Order: sequence, then structure tokens, then C-alpha cells
Amino acid sequence: MAPYFYDPAVEQYQFSESHPLKPKRLQLLNELLKAYGLDAHLDWQTPPPIPESEILRVHTPEYVAVVQAISRGEPVMDAHRWGFSLYGDNPPFLGMWEAALAYTSATVAAARAVRDGAPLAFNITGGLHHALPHRASGFCIFNDPAIAVAILRERFQRVAYLDIDLHHGDGVQWIFYHDPSVLTVSIHESGKWLFPGTGFVNELGEGEAYGTSINIPLAPFTEDDLWWEAFEAIVPRAFDRFQPEAIVLQMGADPHYLDPLGHLHLSAQGWVRAVAWVRSLGLPVVALGGGGYNLTTVPRMWTLAIATLLGVELPDETPAQFSWHDRIPRLTDASVPPVDPADRQHAESYMRAQMAFLGKILKDDS
Ligand SMILES: [Zn+2]
Repeated sequence: MAPYFYDPAVEQYQFSESHPLKPKRLQLLNELLKAYGLDAHLDWQTPPPIPESEILRVHTPEYVAVVQAISRGEPVMDAHRWGFSLYGDNPPFLGMWEAALAYTSATVAAARAVRDGAPLAFNITGGLHHALPHRASGFCIFNDPAIAVAILRERFQRVAYLDIDLHHGDGVQWIFYHDPSVLTVSIHESGKWLFPGTGFVNELGEGEAYGTSINIPLAPFTEDDLWWEAFEAIVPRAFDRFQPEAIVLQMGADPHYLDPLGHLHLSAQGWVRAVAWVRSLGLPVVALGGGGYNLTTVPRMWTLAIATLLGVELPDETPAQFSWHDRIPRLTDASVPPVDPADRQHAESYMRAQMAFLGKILKDDS
């Protein structure tokens, strides 16, 4: 049984009615997990409340005070300076502090469980990797993956953060950019075409931490085979060299070809190979969610990922009692629409160029 932390208050984490980060994706996921009987393998718990000091591991006191004030409906001067704006990615909303605490406390609980000896713990509502110490960004208020890394560091000498979200895991990268005890690895659609505009191969960490930040940026229309080729060429080498003792895994489901926010062209089964690779390492894992905005893909991709980490094989056809069985009949994708040959060629040559650079880096200083 792996601890699975879920605070229903997280369903209040919605910036607005039309915002793509919909609580429905979590409700469907939980229903699908139960329909498959996976909850029998999960020790489902509401996380305990956390002290503010857990947030302050990563965020500044000034920023925390701003989040609390906005949450209470108090006017805040220059809210946009802190990443909040009515028409941006992070419109302020009442109860924001409590809603952000809900996912953060679940990550803290999962990280504590692994720090204290659990081989695996989940917070699928976490993985909000864009937040910076003093700034909300890309739907993220608190950077819970970075907090998880900090908690694991209390026990483990070297912690790896692996991010398979569509977007670059920029917040986590910058937070540990000077810290040689934390390896951050992110595979994502290149910042050349997508938010947050970072995550290039030459962002390698600084000072003693040089080489402990690894980015694999990919072009629009990258398919399963190219994504996996890049992953397999770089990630195992980076891990080998760093020798992590524990892992924080961010499992954003938005690289899927049906996701509305980006242009990677993955299937559920292609993406989950990275999760299976993490399991094969046999290291302690804090498994977090992340992005994913298509309601017919996110619940099945996370079900696949959770089952993979648990080592449970599921029938591909979803249970008949699942209320969205008609819309989500299978976990995997029966077929993926082909991409235009010119797009494929561009994706491949872009990938090869990144591999050439990274291969040299990993060789030079190993
Ligand atoms: Zn994302």
C-alpha cells in the first residue's frame, strides 16, 4: 500500500470558471482509480495541516503574506509584481491561500512519508512546477515539487527531480540552480515555442551545481519514438552520473497529442514509458501530478502512471461502471493521428541537434 494524499479542498483550486485547470480532471481520476480497484493498493489519506514554515522552505515571507492578503480579498498594491493579474495566467481568487495549501500539504505529507521510509507516495494534485520563491507563475502559486525536494534532502544526500510535463519545470530548476545536491531534469516542448520560454540545453546549473540542471527541449509534433529516444539517450546517463538516492517525479500529462495547451504529439502509452523507467530504478519516489488539460486524457494517463509505479497491470478497457466509460473507453490510445512529414522531419532534426549538444556535455564532465 502506497500513501496517496488527497485533500478535497484542492477542488476549490480554480482560478475562474473558464480556466483550463479544472477540478473535474481530479474527480474523474479518483473515480477511475476506484473503478479499477486501484484504491486497494493506495492508502488514501487527507494530509494534515502544515505550518507556514514548510512554505517558507522555498518561498519568501513577503510573497506568502501577499497570497494570504489576496485570498482574504484585501487589496494588494502591484499584485502583478507577484505574478497575479486579472487577465493573466493567475487571476487572484478568494480562498486562494487555502486552496494552494491543500495541494501543498498533500505534497509535504508525501515527501515526509518517503523521507521517513516509504518507498513510494503520491500527490497527484501537486506538481505545480512554475512558481518562483516570490512569484506565482503558470497556474502555480506554491512550488510544491521544490518543497518535496527540500524535505527529501533532510534524509538523502542527493535528490533528483524528473519532470515529464509538456512545459519546462522552470521554477524547480531555478530554485536549485546553485545546489549541487539536487539534479533537475526536464523533458518538454522547447521554450522557443511555448511557455515559460526557458529550458534550453545550455541551462546547466551554476558554480558547483554546473551539470546538475539538464533540459531536453523538443519541437512541436514530436512523437512517441523521438521523445523516448531523447529520454533514453540523456536521462539514464544524467542519473548515472549523479547517483540520486531519491526522486521527485512530476508527471504532467499535457505532452499528449490531444492536450489543448501544447504541440507535442505523444500517446498515453508512449509517455508512461518514462514512468516505468523511474520504477525500474528501485529508488524511493515522491510521485506528483502536474499539467494536463484534456478531460479524456488526464484521468487515464494518471491511472496508467499510478498503476505503473505500483507495479499493477490493468486491463486496457476501462470498467463499465466508470461514468465516463463511453468517453474514455481505454487507457491507452488505439491510434494516434499521423503528423505532417515536414513537421516530423523538423521535430527529428531539432531533437538530434539537442542530443548532439547534451551528449557532449554529459561526456565532457563525466
Ligand atoms: Zn504543463
